[in-house]
Amino acid sequence: MTFEYAPAPESRDVVDVRASYGLFVDGEFTSGHGEPFKSIDPSNEETLAEIATADEADVDRAVKAARTAFDKVWGPMPGRDRAKYLYRIARLIQERSRELAVLESIDNGKPIRESRDVDLPLVAAHFFYYAGWADKLGHAGLGADPRPLGVAGQVIPWNFPLLMLAWKIAPALACGNTVVLKPAETTPLTALAFAEICRQADLPPGVVNIVTGAGETGRALVEHPGVDKIAFTGSTDVGKQIARSAAGTGKRLTLELGGKAANIVFDDAPLEQAVEGVVNGIFFNQGHVCCAGSRLLVQESVAEELLDRLKARMATLRVGDPLDKNTDIGAINSAAQLEKIRMLSEIGEQEGAGRWSPPCELPQRGFWFAPTVFTDVAQSHRIAREEIFGPVLSVLTFRTPAEAVEKANNTPYGLSAGVWTEKGSRTLWMAERLRAGVVWANTFNKFDPASPFGGYKESGFGREGGRHGLEAYLNV
Ligand code: NAD
Ligand code: MN
Repeated sequence: MTFEYAPAPESRDVVDVRASYGLFVDGEFTSGHGEPFKSIDPSNEETLAEIATADEADVDRAVKAARTAFDKVWGPMPGRDRAKYLYRIARLIQERSRELAVLESIDNGKPIRESRDVDLPLVAAHFFYYAGWADKLGHAGLGADPRPLGVAGQVIPWNFPLLMLAWKIAPALACGNTVVLKPAETTPLTALAFAEICRQADLPPGVVNIVTGAGETGRALVEHPGVDKIAFTGSTDVGKQIARSAAGTGKRLTLELGGKAANIVFDDAPLEQAVEGVVNGIFFNQGHVCCAGSRLLVQESVAEELLDRLKARMATLRVGDPLDKNTDIGAINSAAQLEKIRMLSEIGEQEGAGRWSPPCELPQRGFWFAPTVFTDVAQSHRIAREEIFGPVLSVLTFRTPAEAVEKANNTPYGLSAGVWTEKGSRTLWMAERLRAGVVWANTFNKFDPASPFGGYKESGFGREGGRHGLEAYLNV
């Protein structure tokens, strides 16, 4: 017997979305000189706000404000004083977390359950964690007195808007750098709310600057000669362009790009638990996750049983209103992303894989895609090689651990992997051989500010989070 769920909507009244937003430069909201754009709610396609676009001159102003703040205030400030600002920001985020979670869900489309229970707690945790490092940099194993780099130009994607902001800004500020950050064009609202928090925290003007706009604004920022360090998270294509433009300039660079992670289930794994991990691995955040477990590698002897259980579990996933507290899968972030997911799924069918989705009613308006699994996938299929970045799982099988390793590593990416087995020795044997920045054992998509995160190969280079994450923002 299954229960009907009554709607349990979170209230939108806790957020006050303004009709239009400017740029945040030198501690003030100012107008941008590019063509403004709109950010919409992808669950109903309604416009949320009009957002300024920063042109080259606006970006130049922001970089200069960051430079002045670095030279005069933030760079010379003792770490223990920088820490106080970071703690204050962390506490303000906690105080405003309900509002920020709703804002994130309406601008991005992710379920409130995730923005409230995953994104926001991790955002605050990142600021607390790096606040703790600000006065201890000499004890991080990176030299007795490591120095900040200067101005960081940071460009982030739309899948975890405020969390990616926290991953970028918290370590940069803790190390004594100032920043100019560009949020993604479909999800700028929480970054602009963060700008307000910087003012609430009395952060000195120019330490954090937020410039909104699309790819051209991002390009103006990363190509600006006054930027000392570039941190980018997004697609591998744009990452490659940035690597080319930064070559020979002396700018420091970290790239967090795409992924095509293998979630590997052995025949001795607790299958019930593995199914939960597989579901979490690919359907969390609509599959808009660079480290998503988008390839399920399952040992042949348990493949049928696992797939049956997986399908039964998928049939209970609730797709719909992101603000409903019962929702498991929200809206796809944009029309363009939905188009890409549809296109790759159709190619999967054409290439001969078996497509299955549970019966589920999708809302009429907005961007939606039912949770989908492809079986009989071959290594050569595009759905086994390319990042779909949506709620689509490709299933492959293997017979031996060696074959699992070979298949898992047969990808241009290398961001994450999951191993499901009862044997600790096998977990370690696998972890030694998997070319992935993170290997989860009997779990998936677990994040902690103390734990470094980053890729191999086309997933990028550099590590964010933990003590390792400090190195990207220090002259060591
Ligand atoms: P994208 O790389 O185009 O956008 C990411 C950020 O980079 C955005 O803020 C964007 O405005 C900015 N940008 C775009 N062009 C730029 C340029 N030339 N110079 C500087 N900044 C630039 O990603 P997308 O188009 O939003 O998504 C496309 C695909 O990228 C997705 O389907 C997915 O596969 C992948 N993706 C990966 C991640 C990740 O977390 N690794 C995040 C988002 C998207
Ligand atoms: Mn939006």
